[in-house]
Amino acid sequence: MPRPLPTRTPLVDTFGRVHTSLRLSVTDRCNIRCFYCMPAEGVRFLPRADILSFEEISRFVRVVAAMGVSRIRLTGGEPLVRTELSTLVAMLRDIDGVEEIALTTNGMLLGQQADGLKRAGLDRLNISLDTLDATKFERIARRSGFDQVLEGIDAAIAAGFENVRLNALAIRGETEDEIVPLVVFATSRGLVMRFIEYMPLDADGAWQHDQVLAGEVIRETIERELGPLVPVERSESSQPAVDYEFVDGRGRVGFINPVSEPFCGACDRLRLTAEGQVRNCLFSTTESDARSLLRGGASDEELEQLVRDSIQKKKPGHGIDDQTFLRPQRAMYQIGG
Ligand code: SAM
Ligand code: SF4
Repeated sequence: MPRPLPTRTPLVDTFGRVHTSLRLSVTDRCNIRCFYCMPAEGVRFLPRADILSFEEISRFVRVVAAMGVSRIRLTGGEPLVRTELSTLVAMLRDIDGVEEIALTTNGMLLGQQADGLKRAGLDRLNISLDTLDATKFERIARRSGFDQVLEGIDAAIAAGFENVRLNALAIRGETEDEIVPLVVFATSRGLVMRFIEYMPLDADGAWQHDQVLAGEVIRETIERELGPLVPVERSESSQPAVDYEFVDGRGRVGFINPVSEPFCGACDRLRLTAEGQVRNCLFSTTESDARSLLRGGASDEELEQLVRDSIQKKKPGHGIDDQTFLRPQRAMYQIGG
C-alpha cells in the first residue's frame, strides 16, 4: 500500500467553500447515446493512451485526499465500460482519507458487475432511469437496453447496496408522463427517485431554456397525484439534492435543480476528467492539466499546487442565466456528470 501523505491544509476557494468531494471520470465512452449528453453518431472518443491509468488516478486521489477530499464519485461516459473498474474501486478504498466511494451509472452492465463492485468496497450507487417505457428509452438513449437497465437495478439491490438512488433527467415535453410511474416504481422497491433539471451540456448544442422542467413543477405533480410530501432535513448542506418524503410513509423523492435553484454557494466539488484535466466546475471554460504533471515526473507538491490554483479560480456560480454565459466546449460525457 502506498505511504499516506502528510495532511495538508483544506482546499478552500476565494469564497470560503471547502472542497471535500471529487467527481472522477474514468472514461468518455458509453454504450448508449442519450440525446441530452452525446451526439447520435460519429463520436470521436479519446485514444486509450490519453486516458489516465488506475495508478495515475490513484496518485491524484492520494494528493487530494491529503487536502481533505474524502468523497469520490466515479462517473463518465459510462464508468462500467472501463475494464476492471472494481480494481480501481479497491485501489481507492486503500487510500488514507477516502471515506466514501460512489458510482453513477446507466445500469446496463450492473447485472454482471454489481457483486464485484460491492466486494471491492463501493459504497453507493446512483442509477440513471429516465422512463419506464421501452420505446421512449430507445428514443432518448438512441440505443436499446431498457431491459438490461431493469436487470441492473435488480442486481444492485440483490448485491446488497443500500440507499440506491434512481436519477431521471427531467425534460419538458418528455418527462411529464414519467413522473408518477417512476416514483411508484422506485418507492415500491425502497429506492429514492430523483429528478434532475436539464442543463446546457448536450453535445448537439440543442438545449433550450424552455426544455427545463423545473423541480418545483415535478413536486407539485407528485403531490397532486400521489399525496403530500414534507422536506427531509439535509445531512450535508453541500448536497445538491433536496429530498422530500411522503407523509404516508411511502418513501422519498428528491430534486436536483441546478437551473431553477442553483446551489453553487454550497458547492464542495472538484472534477477530474478521464484524460486528467482538473475542472473547478461543470461549466468552467478552462482546465488544469494534471496529466502532464502525472506523466512528467512532477512531485506531489506540484500536483497539490495545480489543484489549489484551479480551485482559487473558481467562480461564484455557473451563470447559466447570465447574458454573458458561455457553454463549455465539452459536453457532459466528456466532463463527467
Ligand atoms: N453514464 C452514466 C449515467 O448516465 O448515469 C454516468 C455519466 S452521466 C453523464 C451522469 C448523469 O448526468 C446522468 O444521471 C445523466 O442523466 C446526467 N446528465 C447527462 N446530460 C445531462 C444534461 N445535459 N443535463 C443534466 N444532467 C445530465
Ligand atoms: Fe451515456 Fe450517461 Fe451520457 Fe447517457 S448520460 S449518453 S448513459 S454518459
